[in-house]
Amino acid sequence: MLSSNKKPHIVFLFSDTGGGHRSAAQAIIEALEIYYPDQVTTEMVDFFVEYAPPPFDMAPATYAQMGQLPELWKFGYKLSDGKRRSKFIQEVLWPYIRKSTSNLVEEHPCDLFISVHPIVNTPILHALEENPIPYMIVITDMVTTHAFWYNTRATLTLTSTEEARDRGLEFGLNQDQIKVVGQPIADQYRRPSASKSDLQKQLGWPQDLPVVLMIGGGEGMGPIEEMARVVDAAGLDLMMVVIAGRNQSLKQNLEGAKLQSQHEILGFVDHMPDLMNAADIIITKAGPGTISEAFVAGLPIILYSRMPGQEDGNIDYVVNKGAGVWAPRSEDVVETLKTWLDDPAERQKVAKIAKSLARPNASKDIAGEIIKIVNNP
Ligand code: UDP
Repeated sequence: MLSSNKKPHIVFLFSDTGGGHRSAAQAIIEALEIYYPDQVTTEMVDFFVEYAPPPFDMAPATYAQMGQLPELWKFGYKLSDGKRRSKFIQEVLWPYIRKSTSNLVEEHPCDLFISVHPIVNTPILHALEENPIPYMIVITDMVTTHAFWYNTRATLTLTSTEEARDRGLEFGLNQDQIKVVGQPIADQYRRPSASKSDLQKQLGWPQDLPVVLMIGGGEGMGPIEEMARVVDAAGLDLMMVVIAGRNQSLKQNLEGAKLQSQHEILGFVDHMPDLMNAADIIITKAGPGTISEAFVAGLPIILYSRMPGQEDGNIDYVVNKGAGVWAPRSEDVVETLKTWLDDPAERQKVAKIAKSLARPNASKDIAGEIIKIVNNP
């Protein structure tokens, strides 16, 4: 503990490579505030932006561009995944990042580090060897989890699926060091701010047309523009709500696209729970955050793209369980929409399966684990 009269302080290590890591950290902090008010203090550190030496400080911007170069991403992912390869890469990089890692640890004294990002774990745990501080890893990928997520020196690792837990055991973690809790998501998914029809009214959406959300993660990744245009041209009875995230050019292009269907084009939104709780169908990149949120909101899912490597397993997970479909071509998206619009019972069946996969208490459970650790350091 820092001192006996101070509340335990927790530092969250994240970075904006996509939107999922930030969302997860915020959801856990929110759960601490709701379920354990005034018991801890928290802070979030974007380690890439604030500490990484060049060119690693460019990682958030580079990640957004990687959506255009999926094969290159896949190559890098595969090259670094695996027990020995990941260890080798981290050892080679250590002299280069040692100073910035030590600076981070020194400048953020705390009682617990919580990482929601794979890259940072081994370096920080290395830096903490001399002066150990509890370290929790909350894995924000679902199924195909990169080797960088796992480190036997971490106090506790939390996963969103059994598959991710099993992989941790393969990496040498013992049974007490790793638990399945679910993906941390905002409390409002499980406790909507209003009924579906009230939310639709507040959002100015029609009540007599199915509303389809289109999302490409925090960065608006994947061929959303082409897909929105093809769906629009199909002339289906629906409203399209496209969330471009931080992708400004996608937003501008779609605003100028003269779409015929009823539609709304949004940039980065901070009321995603309301949008999901008011919508009928979601079309998304296979991002773990968005998928987990859609499960809790009970939305049938169309996956139209994925970041190779870490999101591959998410597709199998959703499709094999029956919570949605994989539709990488815009024509496949249109076909699925037609099926679900013509057959609401089928759509409801898929929605029900999605809901059954939800772990709405994940953030609350993670907050509980945190409190246990800081109270028994
Ligand atoms: N998100 C958001 N506002 C936006 C777009 C996305 O809050 O305008 C959130 C979304 O709800 C989810 C996260 O960003 O929590 C995206 O995470 P995901 O794992 O799906 O994909 P990533 O962006 O990390 O690749």
